[in-house]
Amino acid sequence: MRVLGIETSCDETGVAIYDTSRQGGDGLLADALYSQVSMHAEYGGVVPELASRDHTRKLLPLIEQVLAEAKMTRAELEGIAYTAGPGLVGALMVGASTAHGMARALDIPVLGVHHMEGHLLAPMLEEKAPAFPFVALLVSGGHTQLVAVQGLGEYTLLGESVDDAAGEAFDKAAKMLGLAYPGGPEVARLAETGDPKRFRFPRPMTDRPGLDFSFSGLKTHTLTTLRQHEEAGTLDAQTRADITRAFEEAVVDTLVIKCRRALDQTGLKRIVMAGGVSANTRLRERLAVETQKRGAEAFYPRGRFCTDNGAMIAYVGAQRLAAGERDVPGEMQATPRWPLERLSTPG
Ligand code: ATP
Ligand code: FE
Ligand code: MG
Repeated sequence: MRVLGIETSCDETGVAIYDTSRQGGDGLLADALYSQVSMHAEYGGVVPELASRDHTRKLLPLIEQVLAEAKMTRAELEGIAYTAGPGLVGALMVGASTAHGMARALDIPVLGVHHMEGHLLAPMLEEKAPAFPFVALLVSGGHTQLVAVQGLGEYTLLGESVDDAAGEAFDKAAKMLGLAYPGGPEVARLAETGDPKRFRFPRPMTDRPGLDFSFSGLKTHTLTTLRQHEEAGTLDAQTRADITRAFEEAVVDTLVIKCRRALDQTGLKRIVMAGGVSANTRLRERLAVETQKRGAEAFYPRGRFCTDNGAMIAYVGAQRLAAGERDVPGEMQATPRWPLERLSTPG
């Protein structure tokens, strides 16, 4: 089944075509992305109204682009999947209405899929793909969750952030440091030149049992440290880098400690990391070491599929559409808040 996937939940217009008659990454026939990041950077964050308008402008040209890349006509599509949530409601509606309109015109099935399930299964597009069951660490701009994954649609939430998401913490730290939006990659770059031994920031919620996270205190700690040095007139370039490094170390260490705990608690031997923060090099290195020590294995999407993309939506949608799942014709779904656990197993 050849399925068009559409992602418009936030500030990335992603479109791809996935073919279920092939395996894993080989099924990906085409994939295109238009990032609005530079447009929103001027405002220091995503402006919802601008995001919707830009999706409207870019979506149809991107669909034409992937069809050309896959050497297919619209009539050869056998299904359409779109991100139905969670995300910005106006942005979601652009993808949802386009998907439903096209599906009706082509008389093919259409399905709204969960954005985080897309992130969660993005590693399935890699040559080294995980087998079920596994533990997943979802670390993105809006989510920080540990999930036990038994199979497609069989998700048990093990723990999540009680306040800021890890990506949000990176973005806020970047703002305090005067770095560009989105902050994750900028913080990681500056941290490279920092001394990890100069400051030690707290590892929130690691001193008690459980798999929940909290990152808002770390943000405050970073701000306080920056201010102290500013007031003392000692906030030179090296100190800024050292503070940035301490922040990154604390986030990474906290995530790794909880991953270790989740593996021990579930007895599972595979861990998947996905979402924008999973692009972080130090996090990948640390997790690789820790999993190896436990005789476990870590899996990641390639860098480009860590952040939002159409490929992950085409993949998840294709699996579910092939299993017979569909939206009610004419009833598009746009659900800004949608817990992952509410998903069903297809078929
Ligand atoms: P959600 O998927 O929860 O709705 P989102 O789609 O905005 O949120 P993603 O696009 O998956 O999130 O990821 C974006 C986030 O990833 C941003 O917060 C960004 O700062 C962070 N990020 C990207 N690269 C890195 C990196 N190298 N290190 C740390 N964080 C990073
Ligand atoms: Fe995302
Ligand atoms: Mg994004």
